[in-house]
Amino acid sequence: MKNLALHWKILIALVLAFIIGLWANISTESYPEKPDWFSNLHYFSNFFGSLFLNALKMVVIPLVMTSIICGVSKIGEDQDFSRLGMKTILFYSLTGLLAVIVGLLCVNLIEPGQVEPELRDKMLAGQNSMAGEKLDRAFQNADNGWKGIVEIFQRMIPQNLFKAAVEGQLLGLIFFSLLFGFFIARLPDGLKSSQVSFWEGLNTTILAITNFIISFAPYGVFGLVTPTLMMVGIETLYVMGTFALTVLLGLGIHSFVVLPLLLRLLANLNFTKHFKAVSPALLTAFSTASSSATLPVTLDCITKRAGISKKIASFTLPLGATMNMDGTALFECVVVVFLAQLFGIEMSWVTQSTVVLMALLTSIGVAGIPSASLVAIIVILHAVGFPEATIAMGVGVVFVVDRILDMTRTAVNVLGDSCAAAIIGKSEGESGYYQVKET
Ligand code: ASP
Repeated sequence: MKNLALHWKILIALVLAFIIGLWANISTESYPEKPDWFSNLHYFSNFFGSLFLNALKMVVIPLVMTSIICGVSKIGEDQDFSRLGMKTILFYSLTGLLAVIVGLLCVNLIEPGQVEPELRDKMLAGQNSMAGEKLDRAFQNADNGWKGIVEIFQRMIPQNLFKAAVEGQLLGLIFFSLLFGFFIARLPDGLKSSQVSFWEGLNTTILAITNFIISFAPYGVFGLVTPTLMMVGIETLYVMGTFALTVLLGLGIHSFVVLPLLLRLLANLNFTKHFKAVSPALLTAFSTASSSATLPVTLDCITKRAGISKKIASFTLPLGATMNMDGTALFECVVVVFLAQLFGIEMSWVTQSTVVLMALLTSIGVAGIPSASLVAIIVILHAVGFPEATIAMGVGVVFVVDRILDMTRTAVNVLGDSCAAAIIGKSEGESGYYQVKET
């Protein structure tokens, strides 16, 4: 067991969590009140899960800041900086666009919203029991409509760096760190070398802490997934059958057809090797449903297991975790068209193009936290003119299966970021990826 590679250990933990979580869910389904063992299992697994999640979140801010500052201060020349920036933004826009096209094709071909009246009633009934605090908050946050999205972009330049850090506003911290690294590179030699070695020391220390936390990932994953399945159960997927399958199919095509093709065509890289190298990050993303909380693991996998330079990883990955969300963009598109089909709302190709554009824009602004895309979906539904009553009902319907789909789309978001790092690194002349012995 000791010599087993990390991704196998996490996978075993995940399988155990599925078996135990589902068994607990199914075997107590008919109980009017949950037995003590159920509450205890939920409490203790949740306890270990949240310890792991807290530990990951604890290192996100120092890790993002020190990695970017170190990475950017080494990029040096103005042209290098803007070239890398342009490549990253172009690549993120390209994969985001491909993801929404895949989603749109799937939802138009499968038409999961064209359901029998009985199933529709079952779906609408399900949403009443699930609507909760989280959903209320999503509605409050989305109330501003377009303005809400603009505000997210405004926060890119924070008024107060410490407030941004306290509130976990990663975009603002990334912007500041980019500037900081950029100007370190322009300091006179003596000052520059002392700054670079100071930040390098800090970054190496935080990386060591991150590594230590990641060694607990199998326990953390078990603790995060078991209580989720105990409460949600997989049967919700059954009621939401074709809708959930459409989302999963779209995510599958993007992950196993589109991204491998891009890796091969743009960088001549092998997807299987890449997938294996980043699998601990994908499994952590699946378990936490948060790209931001997964960022320490993604950085670790990309640099240590895939062999991509810290310079490229620290520039592309933090930006990707907040701005590049292929799975989220795909999900938003499928949901909007699915709800239009469910409520019999006509959606011309022009309206669908608006949805594409808005899904792309909002996926940039969506935070890398669980269920964050519900806010974006409400904004899009408002913008394309859904009646108020159908918005509340529709989002409630989707919320029933959101957790399971969120876990999957977050893994796709992280996979997209990791492919970007590999392709951009290769285009910068790096080589020798995936040769590190896995631990
Ligand atoms: N949970 C997703 C993430 O962290 C965001 C979302 O789609 O809700 O990447």
